Amino acid sequence: MTNEELKRRDLEVLWHPCTQMKDHEFLPLTPIKKGYGVYLEDFEGNRYIDAISSWWVNLFGHSNSYINSRVKEQLDTLEHVILAGFTHESVIKLSERLVKLTPKGLEKCFYADNGSSAVEVALKMSYHAHKNGGKEKKLFVSLTNSYHGETLGALSVGDVELYKKTYEPLLIRSIQTAVPRDMSQEAAYEAACEFERLCAQRGNEISAIILEPMIQGAGYMHMYHSDFLVRVREITKRYDIHLIADEVMVGFGRTGKLFACEHANVSPDFLVLSKGLTGGYLPLSVVLTTNEIYARFYCDYGEYKAFLHSHSYTGNALACSAANATLDIFEKEDIIEKNLEKSNYIAEKVNSFRALSNVKEVRQCGMVCAVELQGYDPSERIGLKVYEYGLKHGVLLRPLGHVIYFMPPYVITNEEIDTMIKVAYDVVVMLEAR
Ligand SMILES: *Cc1c(COP(=O)(O)O)cnc(C)c1O
Repeated sequence: MTNEELKRRDLEVLWHPCTQMKDHEFLPLTPIKKGYGVYLEDFEGNRYIDAISSWWVNLFGHSNSYINSRVKEQLDTLEHVILAGFTHESVIKLSERLVKLTPKGLEKCFYADNGSSAVEVALKMSYHAHKNGGKEKKLFVSLTNSYHGETLGALSVGDVELYKKTYEPLLIRSIQTAVPRDMSQEAAYEAACEFERLCAQRGNEISAIILEPMIQGAGYMHMYHSDFLVRVREITKRYDIHLIADEVMVGFGRTGKLFACEHANVSPDFLVLSKGLTGGYLPLSVVLTTNEIYARFYCDYGEYKAFLHSHSYTGNALACSAANATLDIFEKEDIIEKNLEKSNYIAEKVNSFRALSNVKEVRQCGMVCAVELQGYDPSERIGLKVYEYGLKHGVLLRPLGHVIYFMPPYVITNEEIDTMIKVAYDVVVMLEAR
């Protein structure tokens, strides 16, 4: 098929995610022919640096030869098997490794196949665990500006209006407590105090608090101080409230630690992982929890006590092999240490943005860096302009509203970082001059 044919035939039959399809009357689709390293290449030979890791999933580049080889091996052995009553080597190895690598106390792995479903699992498990322990706790708490996915349960605990507003009448009850307003310790302290006041009033109704540690991704890359996590953990213990750490985006090194909870040295009751879990190859998610929670469900059959949640593709063997390959790379190549150099280099390079009058803030946490613009009306769709300019100049940027961010695959070189940042800088300067 030719490039033009692909674009035309796509729009005949596809409905794309997170897209007002009418935009494609003026905004062309970009059919991609192949991917390698940080690059995506289209059918006309143009290549784009994937500065957003294809929606935050890719860690070690597209078509990574090592991950490819491990998935191919798995493909020739076992593609998938039902995980009820049956098991396989890849899922066992992966679970053992995750238990070892994640914060202490997380001992059991429950699989699903995307981030939203895993959030649903954690919410249901939390409620059910309290119930099995003789407590009826019906309320979930989340942070303002949070995002936990878009299935109805996950949407209920999210707080990004853009995704939530329309469906409000359908959602389960949840309340929001303030996220720390900025990265200062003081803001962390104030927000924790607000959460504590809420617990003092309604602690006996609250099943869990769910939060994105360190960075609220879809919430415009808002970042906060790790002290908030320390305090929340302490408060939740006092009120018998579970802590659900949604590390779907921040997990696997994005914040500079393998898991974001490590910044605060806390261990949640539920740790939710997806996105980077398979290095960006295949859909897979997992909820890790404690033996204590697990024990709440462990009894003779027949009292509505078992966790009967399931997905057809739970623990898919191909996805697990990609996940194991991803962990191999972390192990063999000392990625966290190498990323420290890369994130320092990014920090140095983005400094130039601070002098621009239309830049409100530059913030960074590990391998995630955000440049927030100011002075634009949402109807101007500044993000779309940045996106179009980026594509024209070989970089895939996909701003969240007026926040441009960089979240590249870890295999990005300094030279590629230069290009990525230069293109974003040029478009911000262009917008400033208008
Ligand atoms: C992306 C994301 C989800 C949802 O994951 P999907 O696989 O898109 O359903 C949940 N939580 C956070 C923090 C995310 O960034």
